[in-house]
Amino acid sequence: MTTIFARIARGELPADIVYQDELVTAFRDIHPLAPVHVLVVPNAVLATADDLTVDHEAVAGRMLRVAADIARREGIAERGYRLIINCNRDGGQEVPHLHLHLVGGRPLGPMLQRR
Ligand code: 5GP
Repeated sequence: MTTIFARIARGELPADIVYQDELVTAFRDIHPLAPVHVLVVPNAVLATADDLTVDHEAVAGRMLRVAADIARREGIAERGYRLIINCNRDGGQEVPHLHLHLVGGRPLGPMLQRR
């Protein structure tokens, strides 16, 4: 069982990798929605946020901390940014490998459209 993001983490597919360690890989989104748009993913296959268990606390914490480090390094931390995890169909998740979007570098507007 593999995914495009697991293959990027293993170096089997090209990506603009901005950070990697033994638990997570961070790379620029191929279709950026903001001046900074980085995806932080577990190196191991983990499909969705709904699959997180107590065994994933280290990797989930690492994803958050690495995103904050990258935001500081990209110079967007002080003005602010958004971290997004889409989960399953209603959440709009397209790639079935858990990923944290770090987006920023411009005002991002409201979190959700009112209906
Ligand atoms: P989702 O909608 O699943 O939360 O977000 C998936 C994101 O992955 C999208 O923003 C999409 O542009 C990005 N993406 C999909 N395939 C690739 C790829 O092969 N490489 C990179 N760098 N980003 C990808």
